[in-house]
Amino acid sequence: MNKKIKLINILKLIYLALILIFIVGFVFLIKYKIILYVLAIYLPVIIGLYLAIHILRIKTYSYKCPSCNHLFKISLVKDIMSYNSGIGMKVLICPKCNTKEVMKEVIE
Ligand SMILES: [Zn+2]
Repeated sequence: MNKKIKLINILKLIYLALILIFIVGFVFLIKYKIILYVLAIYLPVIIGLYLAIHILRIKTYSYKCPSCNHLFKISLVKDIMSYNSGIGMKVLICPKCNTKEVMKEVIE
């Protein structure tokens, strides 16, 4: 497997684990009134991880238009905002022929 993809998967796991821990710990945090302190540390870490995952994704993956075969990369904002349709698929608009289609991730 590609090194970058491995890294993305590891970061995704850490990200999901942190969110799970947060959800589980939420009740306790509110009870002991330390929620704000924990959030102050937690939120930047989670946001940082989230951005790191997406930055790695746009550097690793390209998308191939099924109608004109044009290979293109997407921006960070597009990667975050665009609709995911299954694993490794996104609904995107081809910059060359303007087709809106489900496009598959391609590793360069
Ligand atoms: Zn196209």
